[in-house]
Amino acid sequence: FQRLRAGLARSSSALGQSLTGLLRKRRLDEETLEELEELLIQADLGVETATRITGRLARERYDKEISAEEVRAVLAAEVAAVLGPVARPLVIDPAHRPHVILVVGVNGSGKTTTIGKLAARFRREGRRVVLGAGDTFRAAAIEQLKIWGERTGASVIARAQGSDAAGLAFDAMKAAREESADVLLLDTAGRLHNKADLMAELEKIVRVIRKQDETAPHDVVLVLDATTGQNALNQVEIFRKVCGVTGLVMTKLDGTARGGILVAIAARHGLPVHAIGVGEGIDDLQSFDAGEFARAIAG
Ligand code: GDP
Repeated sequence: FQRLRAGLARSSSALGQSLTGLLRKRRLDEETLEELEELLIQADLGVETATRITGRLARERYDKEISAEEVRAVLAAEVAAVLGPVARPLVIDPAHRPHVILVVGVNGSGKTTTIGKLAARFRREGRRVVLGAGDTFRAAAIEQLKIWGERTGASVIARAQGSDAAGLAFDAMKAAREESADVLLLDTAGRLHNKADLMAELEKIVRVIRKQDETAPHDVVLVLDATTGQNALNQVEIFRKVCGVTGLVMTKLDGTARGGILVAIAARHGLPVHAIGVGEGIDDLQSFDAGEFARAIAG
């Protein structure tokens, strides 16, 4: 929580300070409500949530004196109400051998790192884990995944850089089944500049996986970099069209002033948020706690 709070501190203290400034000795009039709404939109919370918060304040407190503390409490409660229903951990179904998790997202969003952290978590739970180095475009991604495999004791299935990603997915499925692994985490390339290619590649990967288990993939997790702000919202839209995203992980919440975007994404898409990244280390993946997150946002 400290790390999340420190990370979100920039947004929360920016928002908190502005709130304090805005509400100093003020009655809650039309102008204050408008300024407040503007602040919340600037904090990336999204128009719907911003208007709901100001709407509630208008109903309950219009023309009364109100303190920044009271506004913060309403803000935290409303944000928690949006995030509560989407806070849902990844659940590994033991009926699947393996439970297949396809990890998608644009380059640099933190896919490989998140796979490493998830692998560590599943290994700690005593599960057999296989990692598939499906970002075959970048040698660095393949090397990174091998390092995570060594660190966590997960097997890594990789091919040379430039190999066919669907072929790699086939190998990884086969190996995971042979090992009777509990979980297969499959990395993918995130070249967003060519949507048609990306879609064709992901479709092919899914087809290949389904040939070996028609119920797979069991999760399609989209990894989003919080520091990209509004861009993250566009990425959700694109990846939902390209492949059936079933849940989200938001990374880099340790160093950003833009965590509010997760609220806008939750309000618009209602996709489960499985976990959040708060650093580059192996233990820096936290389960997503809506109340904590809301308090950190509200400052
Ligand atoms: P990929 O291209 O999507 O596989 O992204 P990577 O996993 O290679 O991550 C890109 C960069 O972001 C790396 O330098 C990671 O160490 C860093 N990174 C990933 N997750 C986090 C996080 O939660 N916090 C911080 N501060 N850095 C992160």
